[in-house]
Amino acid sequence: MTRHTKPILAEVAARRDDLIALTQGLIRIPTLNPPGQNYRALVEWLGARLEASGFTVELIRATGAIGDSDRYPRWNLVARREGARPGDCVHFNSHHDVVEVGHGWTRDPFGGEVEGGRIYGRGACDMKGGLATSVIAAEAFIAARPDFKGAIEISATADEESGGYGGVAYLAEQGRFDPDRVQHVIIPEPLNKDRICLGHRGVWWAEIETQGRIAHGSMPFLGDSAIRHMGAVLEEMERTLYPLLASKRTEMPVVPEGAKQSTLNINSIHGGEREPDEDYTGFPAPCVADRCRIVIDRRFLIEEDISEVKAEVAALMERVKAERPGFVYEIRDMHEVIPTMTAEDAPVVTSTAAAIEKVLGQRPEYVVSPGTYDQKHIDRIGRLKNCIAYGPGILDLAHQPDEWIGIDDMIDSAGVMALVLDELL
Ligand SMILES: [Zn+2]
Repeated sequence: MTRHTKPILAEVAARRDDLIALTQGLIRIPTLNPPGQNYRALVEWLGARLEASGFTVELIRATGAIGDSDRYPRWNLVARREGARPGDCVHFNSHHDVVEVGHGWTRDPFGGEVEGGRIYGRGACDMKGGLATSVIAAEAFIAARPDFKGAIEISATADEESGGYGGVAYLAEQGRFDPDRVQHVIIPEPLNKDRICLGHRGVWWAEIETQGRIAHGSMPFLGDSAIRHMGAVLEEMERTLYPLLASKRTEMPVVPEGAKQSTLNINSIHGGEREPDEDYTGFPAPCVADRCRIVIDRRFLIEEDISEVKAEVAALMERVKAERPGFVYEIRDMHEVIPTMTAEDAPVVTSTAAAIEKVLGQRPEYVVSPGTYDQKHIDRIGRLKNCIAYGPGILDLAHQPDEWIGIDDMIDSAGVMALVLDELL
């Protein structure tokens, strides 16, 4: 620690109780998604606090976005604090929604209990703790350097857990992440306080349908089973596609190790008769299935092109078709995200790396996420490449029962974020 950084870190340390109270306050507003509860209550509560510390606060509803309705409006907060002189803008973006509680809790999921240096609750780690950390970092930095140049923005956005369309995507479409407005973005997702996440792999979701002809189950030769056709598709995937994907390795530092290759998950399979209602006690009817559908989730690497990813599956279907008389199929695109990776020499990366060394006395680890997060919208819609995920908390605890965040980890991360502001502003 140098004479220069000491006052900033002292301001962070002095806010320990404040950081705990802020995290608890956020946890105690259950912003469950789906369906998207209490979004307005959370942004109002946080907005009042940020206004009191000198930020200009806007509450923005993503009217008309996917998921937005009068019953469950998608509310977002953007707070901005101008410095004493012109300069860059550093933006901290956190999502304020949390996933369902699920089973297995031994604590009140919305109580914000503190014990043994941890704060417990749904969203403690993913990512209300990160949101609180960025607020404290900004307030501590401003107290230590009131004459800073540029601007600081803090956003709390909706719906990251369901794709971010009523949150970051909406704000990006409104120009909120245009490079002339915001120059550096940090997303405090829980990736451990000593790791910098540069980006994520790509995604292609598609539905594949095989078609057949319905007939009586006692005379299946009079029909054509869509399920048997799909069986042939799955067999061909095992025989050729999975080995091909396993052979593709990336230079991206993806964690965990298993995600350093291309992957494919089959999310669901449905064929034939609809599943009976729970209160139905009879037998199913004997029918040959005339439709079978699977939804595939293909995760791809920065070295792969999405057209090549799609072409592999199309070629596989054609191979099956060539071998099976009467084989009819359709592939329907559902959703796609291009991989993104911020360069290691981008300013937000180098300044965060330097700050981690100063606070933790070690060099950061650079990682890439196996799944996507809101960086996709900042990259694609906002066209801003200088963006990372960095924040306290252990990723494995996200979405689990008894989710928690370590208070010391938040303090360390707040110190890192405050020093990043010092470096960039
Ligand atoms: Zn998250």
